[in-house]
Amino acid sequence: MTDIVVVGSLNVDVVVPLHELPAPGQTVLGAADHRRTGGGKGANQAVAAARLGRRVAIVGAVGIDADGDWLLGLIAAEGVTTEAVLRAPRPTGQAIVLVTADGDSTIAVSSGANMWLAPEHLAPLRDLLGSARAVLLQQEVDAAVVAEAVRLAEGLVVLNPAPARPVDPATLARVDVLVPNRGELAALAGAPTPDVGVDGLAAMARSLGTRGPVVVTLGGDGALVVTTDRQWLVPAEQVDAVDATGAGDTFCAALADALLDGAAIDEAARWASRAAAVTVTRAGAMAAAPRRAEVPTVA
Ligand code: ATP
Repeated sequence: MTDIVVVGSLNVDVVVPLHELPAPGQTVLGAADHRRTGGGKGANQAVAAARLGRRVAIVGAVGIDADGDWLLGLIAAEGVTTEAVLRAPRPTGQAIVLVTADGDSTIAVSSGANMWLAPEHLAPLRDLLGSARAVLLQQEVDAAVVAEAVRLAEGLVVLNPAPARPVDPATLARVDVLVPNRGELAALAGAPTPDVGVDGLAAMARSLGTRGPVVVTLGGDGALVVTTDRQWLVPAEQVDAVDATGAGDTFCAALADALLDGAAIDEAARWASRAAAVTVTRAGAMAAAPRRAEVPTVA
């Protein structure tokens, strides 16, 4: 049986280091070589869960192209089952990431095959989705695909509503654990700003009507766990931050991992926080996800 089925995006990330980000209309020559890596929140979270030792399958789409072959090979080598990744008559999704040495970045994403995936493609995957112990989703695929996958899921449903986009009420009502960052939470709650204290964030989280807890990730400030009648702030681990990209992806995968072991939500958030902190100490997103033995077991 599959532990976690991830429904989400698969991208090739092209990372271009620059001294400065280009202004509109400007061309900036980079001094260093660019890097090509696997990416997309779906692929990142699938690899992060597999590195923690989970049996993981990913549902998504890549193109009938060399990028698609390369990406599937990459995540299969991480132990992720890729049979449910469809080959689309669209190019494999690409993210062009411009980064400076100071850590500033500008990212352009071409969704390509990811947005080709449609709800009807999930019909043959009913058994896979229905038998998974957990289904983990993000929002870099069509909203209708997210809604259909949630409808077919029978196990734990964890939704990372990134990037911020409305989620239909039926989907939200079926979600067991919602994992937004501040901005995504404010967008979902229709709040004018995410810059409110923890009580304000907790009130937003409670207004959403999910049937289970909401875990709000707060970057270097940690994570806020909100249930109907309680809230806990899980402090971030003190680490030397190198690159926070992918921290949210590791956090979501590790949260699902701990919940499958029967952990309570606050305990699961502490485990997720320790796993995400390891990612922050390393460059890259997918490549920075820790293996289980690399995550400290004691806070
Ligand atoms: P991304 O989209 O880049 O993956 P995100 O906005 O979804 O990011 P964050 O809130 O930035 O996610 O980070 C997720 C979790 O990672 C945090 O809740 C925290 O536990 C951990 N984390 C992030 N930044 C740091 C940091 N500087 N030090 C320690 N832990 C961190």
